[in-house]
Amino acid sequence: MPDANGSEPKRPIEQGDWNMAFLFPQEVAAARERNGLVLLPLAPVEWHGPHLVMGCDNLLAHAFARRLAREFQCPYFPPLFIGTERERNPNMLESLGFARDAFIEGMDFPKNSVASAYFREEVFAAVVRDALHILFARMRFRHVLIVNGHGADNQRAVLDRLCREFNAGCASRRVRWVYPGFPRSLVAGAIGHAAAEETSMLEATWPGSVDLSRLPATGKLHNVDYAIVDGETFDCVPTPDHTLREAQDPRIHFDPHWGEQQVEQAAREVIEEVKAEWLIESSAKAD
Ligand SMILES: [Zn+2]
Repeated sequence: MPDANGSEPKRPIEQGDWNMAFLFPQEVAAARERNGLVLLPLAPVEWHGPHLVMGCDNLLAHAFARRLAREFQCPYFPPLFIGTERERNPNMLESLGFARDAFIEGMDFPKNSVASAYFREEVFAAVVRDALHILFARMRFRHVLIVNGHGADNQRAVLDRLCREFNAGCASRRVRWVYPGFPRSLVAGAIGHAAAEETSMLEATWPGSVDLSRLPATGKLHNVDYAIVDGETFDCVPTPDHTLREAQDPRIHFDPHWGEQQVEQAAREVIEEVKAEWLIESSAKAD
């Protein structure tokens, strides 16, 4: 139906967005016949400092899945806003600037104004397991690529375990998981949280989701005050005063253009891996 301006509104797929929620069943079936691939983006609603929207990890996973789906002309499942965390161990607590016997789950530091939507680990595992069962056994896809936007140790462990289990059970189905937007060639140690890199990638993919004016204009950012943490601190190499390293400060090194380049480079890496490992050709039309 024409809109108020008299032009036909475009469907998401006509704009390169293969979100399964907006596809007709015949489009899903045709894509499944073509390469059997479906993407599953997931990550929780989570505190990401005062300057980033709380959907950050999921939004990055969503955008990355959308990018890959366009390349492979395959559906991506509507993003699941689920993720999990655990209590932090004494060495990590000390690195962050807390007492070694504190009880802190994930990025939910006591001074945060809103808690994160972490599901219990066993609930998270059950939901992902059922999602994989749905995609393989019920919807009959042959390859599932999970785009996991959340890097908690126990989240990664659950996904590793489920991938091994599903892959061992049947030779005709394959599942693996990847991070969105962090090229393997770039990432060596731990990834920071709500620091310059993530801030830049979020603004690059979802403009308007970053507001640096919500941070103090100057002064050091203590880990315990903002739950903005650099990768070295997660590797238990903190600064002496447990503050964010200047090199990772989003107020100084905010760069959406750089963020866009990282996401694209990471996408190219994953696309090549999927082609090589699963023998799936990309079928994106040149435009
Ligand atoms: Zn994040």
